[in-house]
Amino acid sequence: MTRRPFIAGNWKMNTRRDSAVELAGQLVKGVGERSACEVAICPPTVYLSAVSDLLAGSPIELGAQNLYPAADGAYTGEVNAAMLTDIGCRFVILGHSERRQLMGETDAEVATKLQAALAGNLVPIVCVGETLEQRQAEQTEAVVEAQVRGSLAELDEARAAGVVIAYEPVWAIGTGLTATPEQAESVHRSIRQLLAEMFTPEIAGQIRIQYGGSVKPDNAVDLLGQPNIDGALVGGASLKAADFMAIIAAADAVCAT
Ligand code: PEP
Repeated sequence: MTRRPFIAGNWKMNTRRDSAVELAGQLVKGVGERSACEVAICPPTVYLSAVSDLLAGSPIELGAQNLYPAADGAYTGEVNAAMLTDIGCRFVILGHSERRQLMGETDAEVATKLQAALAGNLVPIVCVGETLEQRQAEQTEAVVEAQVRGSLAELDEARAAGVVIAYEPVWAIGTGLTATPEQAESVHRSIRQLLAEMFTPEIAGQIRIQYGGSVKPDNAVDLLGQPNIDGALVGGASLKAADFMAIIAAADAVCAT
């Protein structure tokens, strides 16, 4: 089963307009007309439009970092799927561990957002991952299984293959600590087995599972070379064009093998 590697940059709340436009411009130039792997960038919501304009004609796609799962209405401060597609988004990150931890986002809320994303023609990138305490208590598989089951609870088979999952051990996000390729592959393999149980082995074989957690140019090749790692969700290193380009090049190299 060939899954096209997918590299996404999560800029979080780390740019201003000028730096967002500059970074997007550098990436458009760096990636050129095509890349073997799929590439997306997820700027802060307020800069999506400005970046979207710059991506016209580029294979780099646009993603949002969150959405509110409702149609138009009295939801002060929120942004829905229709608004995101309207300004050129194709992806939306859901259930990032920072939102789970800081905003108390639950699996049930992620499941509702996932439905809203799909209904609005957005591809959800659903984040799951264990904390350090959970890993030390040997609960990694149980925690990740509960998150995957809960977050994909309402997902029907017909749409499952198009969803992206990002396995992001919380202890590796923004810390400089990275799961070893073997540690990451072991969790990715168990997620894929779980997806085969929840859906079918064929569908599980089509779902892309990204790894996230301090992916850098110097560890990308080994991580992306694992059979069940289908790309990366990149935080810090996506803010430096040269580093993000090197990670894209690592994924392109994997495509070529
Ligand atoms: C992330 O926030 O999704 C992430 C993986 O961040 P970093 O690459 O900085 O660890």
